[in-house]
Amino acid sequence: MEYIRIPGLDKDVTRVALGTWAIGGWMWGGTDEYESVKTIHTALDKGINIIDTAPVYGFGRSEEIVGKALKEYGKREDIAIATKTALEWNAEQNAVWRNSSPSRIRQEVEDSLKRLQTDVIDIYQVHWPDPNTAFEETAETLAQLKGEGKIKVAGVSNYSPEQMDAFRKGADLGVCQPPFNIFERAIEQDVLPYCLDNGIATLTYGALCRGLLSGKMASDRTFPGDDLRNVDPKFKQPRFEQYLTAVERLQEFAKTRYNKDVVHLAIRFVLDKGASVALWGGRHPEEMNPLPGMFGWHITADDFKEIGNILNETIKDPVGPEFMAPPSK
Ligand code: NAP
Repeated sequence: MEYIRIPGLDKDVTRVALGTWAIGGWMWGGTDEYESVKTIHTALDKGINIIDTAPVYGFGRSEEIVGKALKEYGKREDIAIATKTALEWNAEQNAVWRNSSPSRIRQEVEDSLKRLQTDVIDIYQVHWPDPNTAFEETAETLAQLKGEGKIKVAGVSNYSPEQMDAFRKGADLGVCQPPFNIFERAIEQDVLPYCLDNGIATLTYGALCRGLLSGKMASDRTFPGDDLRNVDPKFKQPRFEQYLTAVERLQEFAKTRYNKDVVHLAIRFVLDKGASVALWGGRHPEEMNPLPGMFGWHITADDFKEIGNILNETIKDPVGPEFMAPPSK
């Protein structure tokens, strides 16, 4: 296991976190509470000590399940909870939009504390930049929450460096949460160097690119209900086949060069590129099995180039994660 210190927290956190979006069910075709709690307990048993969630994941459901699982597990002081704020929703209409106004954030923090059954949130992140509220004003609200002892570290998610500059006029920024995986590398150009230069920890999300990089994805896989992979352009042919071919090549490469699997390579890639913590989503206990293979080795500079070559040779029509962005009002 590897650990990292995030200023503002009184414990080191593991460089792999459990992400619980799928555990909320919404946009993942539903959830199973028993299985979800078991997954959280398995991740903790295997040594992970940081869990990421959000109020919008299942419209409160993910936070409730995380709260329940942690209550049952105990040792709350050894575990860091990262949650988010500033997305509003209408569950009946299945509508979500950005709202980082002070009143929304103040209401949400109280709701999150209740659902999570805790009296302090370790990392509190503005989920998406909201152009209708000045970033500095949003930051000031988080700074006040910190002063009141409701949160420990203020963070943002999906912000550009310019937006982080504006935010930092109103609060210390401890964490940024952008997308990052072998297939979605845009942050290498701007957000990652900005965070490294400014001492902002990165909790990068989608390490397995919604399961593509698990090594278990197949072209005949179907996704029930509202699973976002039904609308993700990477999962539509002919692109899906290109990405699966890339995964096959990456699997061969991981095996030959490191005697590892593509799932290990995917997490190692994120960590060795300089992300502080890789957020790995899971909702079945057995999905946590590959964890130990992610540590104790590194990808060489030449091999980073080789991974780039594999992508260039296999993916003719790359596409990013932009389809996930919620609207602003
Ligand atoms: P991901 O790690 O890219 O993919 C997670 C999915 O991969 C799982 O739900 C599971 O899918 C599959 N999977 C995981 N481990 C597996 C294994 N060992 N074998 C086979 N399949 C496996 O995650 P993500 O959930 O999209 O992102 C991770 C976390 O980042 C989220 O949970 C959330 O906390 C955060 N996130 C944040 C934002 C943001 O805007 N801030 C956006 C996206 C995600 P199946 O359901 O098919 O089993």
